[in-house]
Amino acid sequence: MKGLFNGGCHCGKVNFKIDGQVLNVVNCHCSICRRVNGGAYSSYLVVPDQAFEVTGGSEFLTRYAMSDKAEKNFCNICGAPVFNRNKLYSGVTVVPLGCLNEAAKFFPKVDVFCEDMLPWVMPWRESKRYEKGM
Ligand SMILES: [Zn+2]
Ligand SMILES: [Zn+2]
Repeated sequence: MKGLFNGGCHCGKVNFKIDGQVLNVVNCHCSICRRVNGGAYSSYLVVPDQAFEVTGGSEFLTRYAMSDKAEKNFCNICGAPVFNRNKLYSGVTVVPLGCLNEAAKFFPKVDVFCEDMLPWVMPWRESKRYEKGM
């Protein structure tokens, strides 16, 4: 899906826009995402780095290294996740679907790390499932 989408954190200090192609919509069931976001799984948009821009409040972002490859950037006022980057997937920014104003427009295309999926989770029927990453 291509377009202009806006989003931000819960307290409203950090705002961003996505202007360009959404490359993928992913549910990640890995244990890292579970811990850092607190949900059973985490839903993300994957967009080219150049399509993603923090339009306000970048001074409120804190970067946290989730692993030696992956970083999470979150609002240090409200704690909401804003974007992730991973050295394994260079050139793309991973944006939490729930922080988009237009969250309901996006449907998951893939579920990854299904081997770590909690037993009661029911993936979206049209989503392609991977036991590990892609
Ligand atoms: Zn905030
Ligand atoms: Zn994950």
